[in-house]
Amino acid sequence: MTDNKKGLNTICTHEGELEDTLFKGAVSPLYMSTSYEFEDVDVKRYPRYYNTPNQEALCKKMAALEHTEAALIFGSGMAAISTALMAFLQAGDHVVLQQTIYGGTYHFAVSQFEKFGISYSFTSGWEVEDFEREIKPNTKVLYLETPSNPLLTITDIKGVADLAKKKGILTMIDNTFASPVNQTPVDLGIDIVIHSATKYMGGHSDICAGVVMASQEHMDKVWQTGICFGGSLSDYTVWLLERSIKTMAIRVKAQNENAMKMATYLSQSKDVDKVYYPGLVDHPGHELAKSQMTGFGGMLSFELNSDIDASLFFKELQLIKPSMSLAGIESTMLSPTQTSHSLMSAEDRAKQGIKDSLIRFSLGIEDIEDLIADIEQAIAKVKSMTVTA
Ligand SMILES: *Cc1c(COP(=O)(O)O)cnc(C)c1O
Repeated sequence: MTDNKKGLNTICTHEGELEDTLFKGAVSPLYMSTSYEFEDVDVKRYPRYYNTPNQEALCKKMAALEHTEAALIFGSGMAAISTALMAFLQAGDHVVLQQTIYGGTYHFAVSQFEKFGISYSFTSGWEVEDFEREIKPNTKVLYLETPSNPLLTITDIKGVADLAKKKGILTMIDNTFASPVNQTPVDLGIDIVIHSATKYMGGHSDICAGVVMASQEHMDKVWQTGICFGGSLSDYTVWLLERSIKTMAIRVKAQNENAMKMATYLSQSKDVDKVYYPGLVDHPGHELAKSQMTGFGGMLSFELNSDIDASLFFKELQLIKPSMSLAGIESTMLSPTQTSHSLMSAEDRAKQGIKDSLIRFSLGIEDIEDLIADIEQAIAKVKSMTVTA
């Protein structure tokens, strides 16, 4: 952990920024050069070495956000995840992955590990004991993701980190859903933190990027693998991401607040069967979330009454966009059955409690009254259709 004493908004706004020595402009200059001097320099810079001026500047901000010594920026969340995993795994190793992780990570494990001679197990649940049960003598990594997609299940971060430390195993967490604003897992003992920066860090649904944060020692290993896989991010997008992060803490706090209000509203609505949000006291992970998160996040899921058709409901929304991704400043909804979890068998979905009527809701920063009004009018229209049909 670094001894960065600055406040979160100050880190978001200023940490790592480059000085414009030529013109004294207020923001980091953008250096698009892919070729730099090699003689008489301390660092040989090249985009795929993750060390251009803008890449290094943003890495400093990223590391400060997650309380780590170092960070590396990647071209996508999956580039970050695959590089981090392959940096610490080799033939003969075993990795334990949490049940219900991001679909792309699941697919990476089941489609790639075997050909590298890496074996893997998924936990059968979310408890620390579920991780412990899968550990083998050759287990090198425990991989977790909390809150999870789409049911916002909460995993005990410190519990899993303590277990791993006892056994000398490395821990990695996908912290995308929480964002560093709501959760800093290194403070709970996690070794490596990963984000899809496409989500809350970008925050405007227009940047695809990823990041890995850890100690300098761990990041040196990630770098060694990273330069081979070549998943670095273009400097222009790095520069845009630096700009996006300046407002991350205020955006995410507004999204937290909207999600809490929306979860409360939906849980009181007679048209809604069930709401999944860690901020609600009846969520099974509420106490755990309270102990390890500083905010409950901007994501929730809910089930409409079975007599309200979800596809019709999506079509009637006027403000909220039915849309694949999440974490933008605009509110979006999707059906996990039709998108993120469509490749999973209906049986597996049922086992994990993902119903066809489940709707995942990514809260934006719009006024909560307008979001609620949109849902109310859409439900009213679907109901009137059902009556006349
Ligand atoms: C989107 C996402 C990813 C993958 O990120 P990309 O930028 O799409 O590669 C990984 N984990 C979580 C939790 C995500 O939401």
